[in-house]
Parts: sequence; C-alpha cells; structure tokens
Amino acid sequence: MRKITLIGVHCSATMEGKPFDLAAITAMHKARGFSDIGYHFLIGLKGERWIGRPLEKVGAHIQGHNAYSIGICYIGGIGADGKAKDTRNPEQKAELRKLLAELRPQFPGAKIRGHRDMSPDLNGDGIIQPREWLKMCPCFDVVEWCRSVGIDPK
Ligand SMILES: [Zn+2]
Repeated sequence: MRKITLIGVHCSATMEGKPFDLAAITAMHKARGFSDIGYHFLIGLKGERWIGRPLEKVGAHIQGHNAYSIGICYIGGIGADGKAKDTRNPEQKAELRKLLAELRPQFPGAKIRGHRDMSPDLNGDGIIQPREWLKMCPCFDVVEWCRSVGIDPK
C-alpha cells in the first residue's frame, strides 16, 4: 500500500438532486483523458458507496497531491441557482461519516481536508483563506464538519 497522508473530500460539481452513478462519473473522467475514475470512493444521492479507483492506485483528484492521497467524492455541489452549495442530503452525510470513520484508524497519520483547502497559500500566512481557493469543491468546511460528527480531521 502507498503511504497515505491526505484524505481529500470532493463534490462532483453536478446539480443538486441530479443522480449520477459510478459509470457516469467514470465516463466523465475518461472523457477528460483519465485512465479511470479519478476518485477512490463515490457517494451517491441515496447514500450509496461506490468503489472507484483501487486504494493502492494513485488517483486523479487534487493536482500535486495525488501520490499520497485518497479521494472521496459526493454527488452534488451545485445548487439550483448554479452556485456552489453543500447539497449533501442526510443519507450522503451519514455515508460520508461512516466511510471516514472506517478510514480514520486505517490511515492514522492522514489529514482529512476538502479539495479547496489544498489551494496554494498565496500570502504565506499558513491559512488557506476563501479568496485563495482555486475551486469551491467540496462546498463545505470539511475540518469543521468532521469535528462536528466526532471524526478527528488532524
Ligand atoms: Zn474537488
């Protein structure tokens, strides 16, 4: 197994309530030239958990951080107005929490972060501020949410 120091959380940047499955997201990624889906796990609208790329394999989800990370993506992230939004429903939140609770002891040294938290720290103050986010993904504060559901994000 690769050394894992980061668990990155994403949204699929698809419209709220619109269902996409593993095959659909895999097809989108292949169309972008990836060899397979870029994420290791995908969480559907009904809280389904799909296994994407095998964990042993490097994914394609956070530029510059793929070698040592695991990528998890929930379906959604765009509100009806076309803007970034935390669209996770209760089933998706429950499954994401369950998955992270399983991964936490398997990869005790890994930080759990949102994609946007891995944006470059432009002013070098050690904090990735909203204006420094390259993307909104996953449209919620992963560190804060993890703490609120009893998972240590590190
Ligand atoms: Zn992302």
